[in-house]
Amino acid sequence: MPVDPSSGSPRLHPQTLAVTVGRPQDPGDPLNPPLVLASTYRDGGRLGYAREGNAGWAALEEAVGVLEGGTAVAFGSGLAAAAAVLDSLPVGSHVVVPHAPYHGVTELLRDRVDARRLAVTALDLTDVAAVAERLDRLSGDDVRVALWAESPTNPMLDVVDLRSLGGIAATYGARFVVDNTFASPMLQQPLALGADVVVHSGTKLIGGHSDLLLGLAVAKEVRLADDLREYRHRNGNVPGALEAFLALRGLRTLSVRLERAQATTADLAHRLVDHPAVAHVRYPGLPGHPGAELAAQQMSGPGTVLAIETTGDARVADRVCAAVRLVVAATSLGGVETLIERRARYAGDRAAGVPPTLLRISVGLEHVDDLWSDLDQALTLADRP
Ligand SMILES: *Cc1c(COP(=O)(O)O)cnc(C)c1O
Repeated sequence: MPVDPSSGSPRLHPQTLAVTVGRPQDPGDPLNPPLVLASTYRDGGRLGYAREGNAGWAALEEAVGVLEGGTAVAFGSGLAAAAAVLDSLPVGSHVVVPHAPYHGVTELLRDRVDARRLAVTALDLTDVAAVAERLDRLSGDDVRVALWAESPTNPMLDVVDLRSLGGIAATYGARFVVDNTFASPMLQQPLALGADVVVHSGTKLIGGHSDLLLGLAVAKEVRLADDLREYRHRNGNVPGALEAFLALRGLRTLSVRLERAQATTADLAHRLVDHPAVAHVRYPGLPGHPGAELAAQQMSGPGTVLAIETTGDARVADRVCAAVRLVVAATSLGGVETLIERRARYAGDRAAGVPPTLLRISVGLEHVDDLWSDLDQALTLADRP
């Protein structure tokens, strides 16, 4: 069935849209856009030099755009998408960010502060009243303001009230950006909650197989999307054709991967709470999590990443990473394989207040009992002096 998001037909479920949008529609067409490896096209057609476009990007952008309810522009990485969004802010803008945004975003911000393009204030975005007060003060100073949020956050798993923040941003004319990487377009649609732009690392859940780098920015206003596309063309931070092909292929199975990985994450979170070598478990799907209620309101599921803090010191946490046999000690998340990482090994995460013993676990598609046995043996071994 052809899917026309602009038609008045009943709204299809995200699971259906992820599979159907971005398909060629003419008789005899392949079911999905084939991989086209070309740097240039003969004159007279729709495409010219490939920095301007690729049918594979367009299909992926259409699918992610429909899921998020905006217009998507694909980039070479999540960080490239984030940089494009920051550079779309007027020079002199003041950006309000959480204390611990994704560390790459912190570095992008630092560069722009050093170049006197932007000013930055870090706040606890779970404190909505504090955000309102700061935006009120900044608007009194007559500066352009932007609000940059992540929810759930990487790696602290904080949940922020997107609808309330969206309302505050609208009141003060602040552009509201949400990094939606941890939720994916399947679990959370920030544009519907008041965001102006959504940023994704497509490298993570959308791609889903740890085999590509790609990013997306999704704008509510077509004009901003046009600006971002123009920026991409001028700066050349385009996605590769193969990466876009693989990302769309990943998106097609996102809902089933999420369903399984999320069930496993919830199960592991509950079991980890009672483990003697675990001092604290962070997962928005656990009833005791401070953001559990909010997550239940604004997300259709709590996601596939959890974090634990081990008892003892950072050496115990490092020993867990060294002792896992099935779970892989590696950075990144959102793939089919379960990964574990002690985030405070990075100076940026340490500076942002990430606890030294915090282990981020991105849950994949292995059987839950196999994952539990492995984590249990690694935690037990590491806990013994
Ligand atoms: C990985 C990540 C990014 C950066 O994306 P890349 O594709 O690695 O450039 C941005 N935000 C979050 C929350 C991430 O996890």
